[in-house]
Amino acid sequence: MKIIMLGAPGAGKGTQAKMIAKEYGIPHISTGDIFRANIKEGTELGKEAKKYMDAGQLVPDELTVKILLDRVAKDDCKNGYVLDGFPRTIPQAEVLDEALTKLGDRIDFAIDVDVPDENIVRRMGGRRACVTCGATYHIEHVPPKKEGICDTCGSELILRDDDKPETVSNRLKVYHEQTQPLIDFYSKKGVLKSVDGTVDMMDVFAAIKTILE
Ligand code: ADP
Ligand code: AMP
Repeated sequence: MKIIMLGAPGAGKGTQAKMIAKEYGIPHISTGDIFRANIKEGTELGKEAKKYMDAGQLVPDELTVKILLDRVAKDDCKNGYVLDGFPRTIPQAEVLDEALTKLGDRIDFAIDVDVPDENIVRRMGGRRACVTCGATYHIEHVPPKKEGICDTCGSELILRDDDKPETVSNRLKVYHEQTQPLIDFYSKKGVLKSVDGTVDMMDVFAAIKTILE
């Protein structure tokens, strides 16, 4: 099963993608996580990506597409995957489509997690991410057991640089201009499904499971 998560930054794509990956035994692939791992390791890709991420811009397609295609070609993706944060532009979607068509394959579901902009600003301001394992929390909705500490690995939780209010409004603008058109793209392909992302995360997941099953 090959699934794409669509939705604004902070809509809950990562939260749901992790649950889908666990439930169906397929890898969760987040281009944002791949970039953050590269930033942490100080690679050239990380240095280049950081300039765009900190400004709330998209990393150029030339850099993004190759890392994604290399990742989905790995053995663990044979039975499918859930993509979180890719594609984010029409050209990215077209490249993925061509690569899959060459293999006689296609995306099964593009799930749009729908959350209005007003909620997004609160979601991202309250999001906290683990510096080590990348687990995400929310100070009100999904708090860790001990404030500022990751339940999974015990490391420090931080507010991502690109979740600061001045960057969030830019990310939303970029989302509406460059990523939202993908809803129409996948609708035309007949694989688009929408879920209400404003409800409790377990209820969002239940709606997604109904779609997938
Ligand atoms: P995305 O991957 O789309 O950027 P996340 O999954 O990281 O979004 O979610 C953004 C923030 O909102 C996180 O702090 C997360 O814990 C919280 N969150 C996710 N889903 C819900 C929900 N259904 N209700 C309330 N908060 C949520
Ligand atoms: P995310 O973790 O998905 O919120 O992504 C964080 C940031 O990484 C985004 O704001 C972009 O700057 C960059 N990024 C992640 N995925 C992509 C992508 N598919 N195309 C371009 N930039 C991306």
